[in-house]
Amino acid sequence: MNLLSDRILNMATSATLAMAAKARELRGEGKDIIGLSLGEPDFNTPDFIKDAAIQAINDNYNSYSPVDGYGELKEAIITKFKRDNNLAYTPSQIVVSTGAKQSLANIAGVMINKGDEVILPCPYWVSYSDIVKLNDGIPVEVKTSIATDFKMTPEQLEAAITPNTKMIWFSSPCNPSGSVYSKEELRALADVLQKHPNIYVVSDEIYEHINYIGGHASMAQFDDMYDRTITVNGVSKAFAMTGWRIGYIGASEKIARACNKMQGQITSGANCIAQRAVITALNESPSRVKYMIDEFKVRRDLILGLLNDIEGFKTNIPEGAFYVFPNISHYFGKTLRGKTINNASDFSLYILEEANVATVTGEAFGNPDCIRISYAASQEQIIEAIKRIKEALS
Ligand code: PMP
Ligand code: GLU
Repeated sequence: MNLLSDRILNMATSATLAMAAKARELRGEGKDIIGLSLGEPDFNTPDFIKDAAIQAINDNYNSYSPVDGYGELKEAIITKFKRDNNLAYTPSQIVVSTGAKQSLANIAGVMINKGDEVILPCPYWVSYSDIVKLNDGIPVEVKTSIATDFKMTPEQLEAAITPNTKMIWFSSPCNPSGSVYSKEELRALADVLQKHPNIYVVSDEIYEHINYIGGHASMAQFDDMYDRTITVNGVSKAFAMTGWRIGYIGASEKIARACNKMQGQITSGANCIAQRAVITALNESPSRVKYMIDEFKVRRDLILGLLNDIEGFKTNIPEGAFYVFPNISHYFGKTLRGKTINNASDFSLYILEEANVATVTGEAFGNPDCIRISYAASQEQIIEAIKRIKEALS
């Protein structure tokens, strides 16, 4: 009998976290690694949020919170959904979790039965596929390319639907492509779903505020999609709070209740100090954190300009999040410094070893022709990293 379950043995290690760990390890050996692998703002959590957490400690918030989150936090989330997305939810439709990642794991756990298919437009965020598989679901990848700005078309969606399709999971702004679906594009996808009333949508909007074109659109805004969309969001990205671990969903009551039940057996709810701090974060206008978004935009333009100068890098223009996802298949089959590059993983490893720059292979996101570069790093780091990559490839 195996010590470990088939479940964990069949699970891939999170490539983003693995690359971050590898970069840390190499740094520990004295190597000057520039980390462009992890999607994590390099800003500190704003002081007004930190102050709220300190206040919560002093106010003795030290007991279990309600499993699905403090009432005041749910109210702040409801206010946020109304203010930023024009979505109306009631408290029984909100569940606060230990990060959006746990929100996603809850959804999978409460909705997927063995053999249910989950459509994942590629590239998708690294953990979607394994969370689905962990719950005995079948990820159905829909390949997209730069030609459609890495967005799934209505025709592709239609073609991917089978009698076993349970859900579609996607992020907009997208990690890793930075693509942002417009309201019209979402409506066109919703039109396809009109014919398939039993298919649900997980709309991961965690990069909502990191949007360079303005105008974030939510799938749940359409009346015919509201009940069958689970809107996932969190504070990790826009508020530079990755380590605080707070995410949340707005969903139909039935789904929210099920997620609450799941958490009740697994975590007992999210960290109470972090929850108190997030009440303050969400009650503020998003303009309070715009200085970070403005800086990300400067960096996006910077990195696109620099990459443009390297032979064999093809990119879309990311309209949100803080990643570029260049197609580097130009290098496949080539031998550089005695190392043959056959795929994106080889390429990412080559860059790590020869340029000391950590990126993530596109294979982890369902696209083996690309790598993901996070530009949540200083302008100096970005300039130095791309210079090194260029040298290593020349
Ligand atoms: N969804 C997407 C698209 C992400 O990039 C991330 C990044 N961590 C998450 C969900 C999970 O975020 P967290 O668990 O930190 O809230
Ligand atoms: N979402 C980030 C990323 O894609 C953080 C890492 C993770 O949660 O896997 O890099």
